[in-house]
Amino acid sequence: MIPVTKPFLPPKEEVIQYLDEIWERNWFTNDGPLVKMLEDKLRRYLELEHLLFVSNGTIALQIALKALKIEGEVITTPFSYVATTSSIVWENCTPVFVDIDPETWNIDPVLIEKSITKETTAILATHVFGNPCDVDAIQNIANSHGLKVIYDSAHAFGSTYKDKPIMTYGDINAISFHATKLYHTVEGGAIVTNSLQLAKRMMYMRNFGHDGPGRFNGIGINGKNSEVHAAVGLVNLNYANEVLTKRRDNYDRYKSNLQGEMLTFQKINDVGTSNHSYMPVLFQNEKALNEILTELNDNNIFPRRYFYPSLDELDYVESGKMKVSQDISSRILCLPTFHDLTINQIDFICSFFKK
Ligand SMILES: *Cc1c(COP(=O)(O)O)cnc(C)c1O
Repeated sequence: MIPVTKPFLPPKEEVIQYLDEIWERNWFTNDGPLVKMLEDKLRRYLELEHLLFVSNGTIALQIALKALKIEGEVITTPFSYVATTSSIVWENCTPVFVDIDPETWNIDPVLIEKSITKETTAILATHVFGNPCDVDAIQNIANSHGLKVIYDSAHAFGSTYKDKPIMTYGDINAISFHATKLYHTVEGGAIVTNSLQLAKRMMYMRNFGHDGPGRFNGIGINGKNSEVHAAVGLVNLNYANEVLTKRRDNYDRYKSNLQGEMLTFQKINDVGTSNHSYMPVLFQNEKALNEILTELNDNNIFPRRYFYPSLDELDYVESGKMKVSQDISSRILCLPTFHDLTINQIDFICSFFKK
């Protein structure tokens, strides 16, 4: 069986070394030494100013919205995972969808301005499949209208824009370290910002607002993560370069195999790089997609229709029809890509496209 992705398995012995330390200390959570070490190492690895390890990528988005005091309307993309939209609604804001670029599949900056109203306070965009958004264009619009910018960087570990880490752009970035992501801590995520003031505010928010045992600095929630998750993260970080290289190799192999097969690939930002954490291909129509999908499934290969459906279809959001996003959603398929997928397996998967 070849699944769409497989969690990277850190060598057990290396994790156990950290577990022994944890048992020795009898300290499982609440800003422990491994959490601090992981934050420090991630910050250096990703070249970031401030990074807070949290329990998942969704709480990272929610804390980001809360910390920036976002209210009213938030301009966002319909082509993302449901958490991008649901966290906006969860924080009592109104998502306003702006359609995506038909080639990059990221929010189309040209369309953003038209959707800005007196109620708009922020833009929440996703770096889809690790492809950097046009962050300069988005920032310019935000600056001229006094809007905050939050990025859902759940896919973007290791992606860059103008030779800088993608997560240095925008007011706050939310990352996911879920087991299915390129770099993971089993469950987990992080909030990233260049602002010390925001970092401090979010540090309180992550821990119930606690400022000492009986004191509180504003409202908070439980967004903490544990020493055990940090242990897995520390070991996985040693393999992050390897995993990133393998994803790129997989992408190159697929791309050269599938060239000329009536498929379209994602257009990667000219001034950026993608981490190629996914292997999306776009079919000419949904029928062609379904034919290949059935054939692959019959051969125990399980790609995933992702993102599908387009988020403007959610019944708890009012929205006009996002034509481009719905069209791309109906024709897109993410092919298997993970650290130990072999070249033979890639060639085998591609052979079904050639028939
Ligand atoms: C995975 C993902 C999330 C949610 O992250 P969790 O850590 O699972 O909460 C949010 N947005 C996108 C685009 C994702 O892929």
